[in-house]
Amino acid sequence: MQLSYENDSRKLAVIGDPVLHSLSPLLQNTMIQALGLNYIYLCQPVAKGQAKAWLDAAKLLGFAGFNCTMPHKVDMVPLMDELDEDAALFQSVNTVCLRNGRWYGCNTDGRGFYQSLLQQGIDPAGRNVTILGTGGAAKSVALKLVQQGAAHITVCNRTVSKAEQLCRYAPDRMDARGLSLAELTEGVRHADLLVNCTSLGMKGTGADFASLDFLDALPAHAPVCDLIYSPAATSLLVRAGEQGRTALNGIGLLVWQAIYALEEFTQTSIDGVAMARLLEPLVQQYQA
Ligand code: NAP
Repeated sequence: MQLSYENDSRKLAVIGDPVLHSLSPLLQNTMIQALGLNYIYLCQPVAKGQAKAWLDAAKLLGFAGFNCTMPHKVDMVPLMDELDEDAALFQSVNTVCLRNGRWYGCNTDGRGFYQSLLQQGIDPAGRNVTILGTGGAAKSVALKLVQQGAAHITVCNRTVSKAEQLCRYAPDRMDARGLSLAELTEGVRHADLLVNCTSLGMKGTGADFASLDFLDALPAHAPVCDLIYSPAATSLLVRAGEQGRTALNGIGLLVWQAIYALEEFTQTSIDGVAMARLLEPLVQQYQA
């Protein structure tokens, strides 16, 4: 894309390692241009262990804020002067703003995912949800859905002890299982929504579900959501689609967490629906 900026444009960035594949600069600069904001959004590799050094450099260089991806989301938490409610709850930061010389860390992943569900007409309140995985993404999804009134959440993970640990957040409304075919089959039996937050099926990993037959036990009305957006349709989503289910990939989360991040950076309100309509085709081009 053609970037336009002035000498006094306020600087934003995404930091991580690896990070050069990130779509955040494309999404954020597209929004910045569409809204006529005087910002520029860059891509900055920062190695593990360098989070504090980056904060000092970013302050010196006059950055207004940045997004962080792996491996910094957790490391950034103790370095913030203040956290928003979700960053404190997830113990993970994906958006950092410099406000009055103080670092303000927030997390827009949970609300981004929740909003992407609502936009598809899926309200998890009062529903049983089965979540696969316990990594950073799974944690923000699970805790946000508990917060938003999901009736019960089953967490299935290869390493069961991690699922048990996650379920300690709301032991009366969460239970833990493994990821074998038998465990998955039992784990989805009462679900109204299934969300894959593992990296199984992601392009470039070579790892996928050994069997998708557990989907036969998922109630017919239950949508399937995969946080992965590359490929656009994982094998899980293909099978869900063949069963006639609503099948959603991770574009919604990607786009909505970016919209909320720009709202935090600029402290302005953005028409998210219009912006999502602008951004989604950009991600689809990347998937092709
Ligand atoms: P993470 O912290 O590394 O967690 C990875 C999860 O996948 C863990 O639960 C891990 O299980 C499981 N897993 C990995 N390899 C596995 C295998 N071979 N067999 C079974 N389970 C396996 O990653 P994350 O940041 O949470 O991201 C998870 C997925 O969400 C990724 O595909 C990522 O691309 C996607 N994501 C999408 C968005 C978006 O904007 N759409 C945002 C964030 C993440 P163990 O605990 O047993 O290791």
